[in-house]
Amino acid sequence: MSRIFPLNDVLIAQIAAGEVVERPASALKELVENALDAGATDISVFLEEGGVRLIRVEDNGHGIETDDLPLALASHATSKIHTLEDLEKVSSLGFRGEALASLAAVSTVEIVSRAEGAARASALRSRGGRLEQAIPAARGTGTTLTVSGLFSETPARRKFLKSESTEFGHCDELMKRLALSFPQVAFRLTHNGKPLRHWPVVPLETRVRVIAGEAFFVASSGLDEQASGLRLQGWVARPAYSSASRDAQYLYVNGRFVRDRLLAHALRQAYQDVLHHQRHPAYVLFLTMDPSMVDVNVHPAKTEVRFREAQAVHRFVFQAVSKVLASGLRVPEAAQERGGRQDPALTLQRPLAIHEPDAFHSALFGPLSARGVTVPSPAPAYADVPQEVPLLGYALAQLHGIYILAQNQAGLILVDMHAAHERILYETLKKSWLQDEQMASQPLLLPSAFNASTTLVATLESHASLLLRLGFQVSPAGPESLVVRAMPVLLSDSDPSQLVTEVLNELLEYGDSRLVQEKNHELLAGMACRSAVRANRQLTVAEMNALLRQMEVVERADQCNHGRPTWRQVTLDELDRWFMRGQ
Ligand code: ADP
Ligand code: MG
Repeated sequence: MSRIFPLNDVLIAQIAAGEVVERPASALKELVENALDAGATDISVFLEEGGVRLIRVEDNGHGIETDDLPLALASHATSKIHTLEDLEKVSSLGFRGEALASLAAVSTVEIVSRAEGAARASALRSRGGRLEQAIPAARGTGTTLTVSGLFSETPARRKFLKSESTEFGHCDELMKRLALSFPQVAFRLTHNGKPLRHWPVVPLETRVRVIAGEAFFVASSGLDEQASGLRLQGWVARPAYSSASRDAQYLYVNGRFVRDRLLAHALRQAYQDVLHHQRHPAYVLFLTMDPSMVDVNVHPAKTEVRFREAQAVHRFVFQAVSKVLASGLRVPEAAQERGGRQDPALTLQRPLAIHEPDAFHSALFGPLSARGVTVPSPAPAYADVPQEVPLLGYALAQLHGIYILAQNQAGLILVDMHAAHERILYETLKKSWLQDEQMASQPLLLPSAFNASTTLVATLESHASLLLRLGFQVSPAGPESLVVRAMPVLLSDSDPSQLVTEVLNELLEYGDSRLVQEKNHELLAGMACRSAVRANRQLTVAEMNALLRQMEVVERADQCNHGRPTWRQVTLDELDRWFMRGQ
């Protein structure tokens, strides 16, 4: 039988270190967070061999009193909290008093520090878990902390480290995360003697452009929402930008980078309607709230949090992000700045016939306006009246039966006609589903009868009220046939038998009607897709313009229901570059 022995202190610390210090980047995180907690405004990081050989962090923070140096390396010793009350409203990045002790247990740690107002600096070293004597040293106010030979005392752990470049990559990413949240602090990063990063003090927006990238920034919308003690600020990329990896996902709670499942879920939901399912949303978001509303003492590395009011936080984040994603079309800044060339041709080409009634317009947009959905009034027919060119401009032509070409202030607009129409229908259907007890129905001139399987006929019978609500009038015309007498007004342009078959098949798949309620968006999306104009349908200029005007007022018009973009702007500058004009 084996006996029980107490562990010695060094081994206890080495075991505890496993939780905090997984790799060089996690050690670096602790050191830089300490510098930030000390109020530093200038932080320089030096790494050797991906941080495995050496990590040094120099700061200009408030420093450590000489007498406190041994305590800084002792476990469960901290200057940041004193009582449980402090813990419950902690606003510093650290508070556990374990990081330096853990590092000292698995490597050689040296602190050189001069406290604010102190006459001189002191240095203290710990090797293999044993403290040496503090000695006088020279430096200005602030702290230099050096960790060398990480895991040299725990070779088993060292084996798990990856290549130098991988470890450096993790350190670099960690620096980005911290730097995004502290634009008021300057950071430098040097690797193997090579200066690689220098981020000076700048406004947050500039820091985001530099670190998350210009491409992200240009494709993003800014937001700043507040409600009942919660604030969400930052930038979310329009779905068309989103990448196939999760790289550009920066989420902070009270300045702390977190990976939180609740928030991730709220964000995924906000993007659900606009993002292709294999793509990941991209964002830099800062959630702030009273520190007592969030428990950060959940995980040793403090990357997880727990909210006191989880439901309220979820709802708030979901709504704030949905709102910005739902807001109308976003024209790239470059296109707006250009302001258009004062091109007389643009005025001349303003179509005079834009409000001429025609089949497509009335089939689609006529009924909408009749039902109170605001259709923007068409441009006046007087070309000599000065007037703003609409966002998406005026249609020029249809390309290969797929794309609409239009001219706006900034240059050329290309629209994927099916994708755009599908989004318009989907948004309008959703609105009507929410607002109307029953969607408006339009009788067919001739009832349309068609063959259907007995299963579909049975499905119709069990979902009769839902179909009525959607604006269909369908009834069995025999054991294996159905007859459609009326269609939803919004979809009256589509083939009755095809659309009804599609809807019944979906309903069959969902099974019971409770599920239908949950899946109503999918059902409506399917109907929109089925009813949107198909490729090769020739549109008149007036029809194309009607579509452009609809896109300008409908929510989420930037993407189709599958997350593909619906339109693109090619600016005159871009065109000039293609043809080397003015060079
Ligand atoms: P914690 O950050 O949780 O308090 P640490 O082990 O990281 O625990 O640090 C222990 C203590 O050492 C801190 O509470 C702080 O007082 C001091 N300290 C560590 N690094 C610095 C620094 N760069 N500047 C000033 N004080 C520091
Ligand atoms: Mg700390």
